[in-house]
Parts: sequence; structure tokens; C-alpha cells
Amino acid sequence: LVSRKRQPENTVVTINGVEVGNGKPAFVFGPCAVESFEQTSSVADKIKSKGLNLMRGGAFKPRTSPYDFQGLGVEGLEILDKVRKGSGLGVISEIVSPLDVEVACEHIDVIQIGARNMQNFELLKAVGKTNKPVLLKRGLAATIDEFIHAAEYILAQGNPNVILCERGIRTYEKATRNTLDLSAVPILKQETHLPVMVDVTHSTGRKDIMLPCAKAALAVGADGVMAEVHPDPAVALSDSAQQMDFEEFDAFWDELKAFAAK
Ligand code: PEP
Ligand code: MN
Repeated sequence: LVSRKRQPENTVVTINGVEVGNGKPAFVFGPCAVESFEQTSSVADKIKSKGLNLMRGGAFKPRTSPYDFQGLGVEGLEILDKVRKGSGLGVISEIVSPLDVEVACEHIDVIQIGARNMQNFELLKAVGKTNKPVLLKRGLAATIDEFIHAAEYILAQGNPNVILCERGIRTYEKATRNTLDLSAVPILKQETHLPVMVDVTHSTGRKDIMLPCAKAALAVGADGVMAEVHPDPAVALSDSAQQMDFEEFDAFWDELKAFAAK
């Protein structure tokens, strides 16, 4: 069902009025985790001030250590709901269990399936039974073929609203958090009709190269870019080192916007 051979036209996923995959790049910024209403709404204000209309924020955080901040859970989704109603932004957040599909549908605009759950088949089937847009991230060590098959699980249940997201894969290279596989973008665009985004935060883990990587993503045909922005990264409860502060985000966006307009 995801194959370009079967459907030659691009799938366009509409999120709260914003079209992803229509040829104009979409941008998703926001904190790694929803920490409080104040923190989340301050990022929403920042995003709105740029004329942007999508925001991310994790409520269920799949962390490597069980002792790290796990996210606010449903309370985080409720905060996002309040922020989206106040700001008009479309919001994206991850869930990690099929049991949370219903509450997610109520509170957010896009359900994210994170890298660690790309092959959580019951979760894929559960979101496939809804009509909600799904942002499916590539697994930490998933091949492109496995990634495409994971998307197929969602479409096979009847939900065509899937956005693929390249977020870096595990390699021997230590200079970046993961290795951004930019070649995946044109391959996914060729093999499937789904929109493809690139997460420059979790792939690179380095604020100093996010801008060139975001430009490169657009240059190879990505339908959008995702990056993390936090009002005060030093005190962030997760991914403190790699979230942009507002000043860094201003500089990043100024240049990326100009590049995208070319
Ligand atoms: C995230 O986007 O919040 C996240 C945890 O990313 P990934 O699943 O790609 O690691
Ligand atoms: Mn993060």
C-alpha cells in the first residue's frame, strides 16, 4: 500500500490545516519533553512568532535509563491540548502503548511512533485503526526496507495518514549521536508515496551542525524538518545538550527559512 508503484501521486497528510508532503517543506519544532504548561506555551509562542504552525513535545518519553525523567504521561498530553487550543498550533507527541491511542486521539493532532517502537507491531496496528496522522520514526538500527514495512502495518489497518521520519541510525561513528542517513530520503521518496521528514536533533545530537544538516535534508527532497527547541536547555529534563535555546533557534530559523524559500 505504501508503494509508489501502486500510488504514483504523493500522499499529503493534513495536520490541523497544514499540508505535509505538498511540495512545500513543513517544520516541526518544540521541546524534547513537555515539562510544564509554562515551558510548553513559551515554546508555542516562539513558534507562532515565526509564523509556523506545528509543534512537538514528548509526554511519554522512552528513556535509556529507567531512572531518567519518563515524561508527564497523560498530563503532558493534556498540557499539549491546552496549548494547542490556546495557540492554534498543531501538536505532535509520542505514545508508547496501544492503550494510550484513545487518549492521544483526544488531545493531540499527530501521534508519533518513536524509533524504539518502530517495530512495536501492536502499536502500529492500533494507530492504523485510527484516522489520526502518524509520524513514524525510523528504528535505531532499522533498514529502509524494515522502515517501509513498519509503515505498511499502519496503512494495512486503513490509516493512510503516515509521515516517515529519518532520525539517524546506529553506526560505528561517534562524532554524532546517530548517523543521519540522508540517502534514505530520496530512496523513501522513490519507493513510497508518503511524506518524509528529517529529525536533525536526534540524528546529529549536535547543535553546531543542525543547520547544514537541515539544509541538506531539504536539498535531497525532504518534506520537512524536525528539531528540538527549549526555553532553557540547561535545565531541560531530557536532551539538555542538544535542544536549541531561543537565540540559537532564531539564528537557525532565519537561515533555514531563507534556504527553504530558494
Ligand atoms: C523524540 O522525537 O522525542 C525521540 C525520542 O526521538 P527518537 O524516537 O527518534 O529517538
Ligand atoms: Mn529529545
